[in-house]
Amino acid sequence: MEKSLFKPFITLIFLMSLTMYALTSSVGVKLNQIPGVSMDFPNQVGDWVGNDLKFCHNPDTCAKGYKDAAYYVRDLVFPDICPNGGDRLYNCSRAEKEQLPADTEFVKSAFTNAAGMRLHTSIVLSGSARDSIHRPQRCLKGQGNTLESEYSLEVPIAGRDPLDVRVIKTSRVFQTEEGEVPYYGFYAYWFVGQTRETSSHYVRMFWLAWDRVINSEANRWAYIAVSGKREAEGTDFEEHILSFVQQVYPEVLTDAFRSRVYAQQ
Ligand SMILES: [Zn+2]
Repeated sequence: MEKSLFKPFITLIFLMSLTMYALTSSVGVKLNQIPGVSMDFPNQVGDWVGNDLKFCHNPDTCAKGYKDAAYYVRDLVFPDICPNGGDRLYNCSRAEKEQLPADTEFVKSAFTNAAGMRLHTSIVLSGSARDSIHRPQRCLKGQGNTLESEYSLEVPIAGRDPLDVRVIKTSRVFQTEEGEVPYYGFYAYWFVGQTRETSSHYVRMFWLAWDRVINSEANRWAYIAVSGKREAEGTDFEEHILSFVQQVYPEVLTDAFRSRVYAQQ
């Protein structure tokens, strides 16, 4: 092997070993509770009007067979009580509650604009004891989507460098009484740690490992996602991602994270 080829190979092996070591060893690792995001979406983001979602977990009534039983908070008489049976409502679905560590936090909302376009948005904040963020690709497939393609999109944001978000184009077929109905969707996401951000799952895994080994610290990472419907062809949907992410970006960060990223300019 030539030297020029060998060097990046060694670097890769080193980084992979570091990651493996860090994920299996937790000796002397301090838990850092401070996230880089505030777990709240604003009521309005430019032209987009938001409505938080809450979920009923009652397996006999609403969440039968792990059905997603979601309610819009603004439609509810009591913001935490299910209108169909009086159960307590949660910020995540029944499946998420049962599968993810108890200290995982969620906020989920839907945003609509005057043209009737709807975006589903969520922030999942990993607990500090165990990382609870999975590869989005795996979850999307698990929900029955076909992943058509995947790429990075630069979102220009005033006052700082563009934010890199990862976009996945999905498709699926819904069985309805009228027959099969195709659905084309998009799913855009990025990750925010206490002091870092990236749209790459692997870069996030690396920083997670780095902080554990070098800083002896377990950080809480947040996973911010925006999804919606797209046409079968074309990239018109990207304008919705740009419009929403540009405006929501500064709003979901903590004061400390925001002042750090904007000061770097
Ligand atoms: Zn219910």
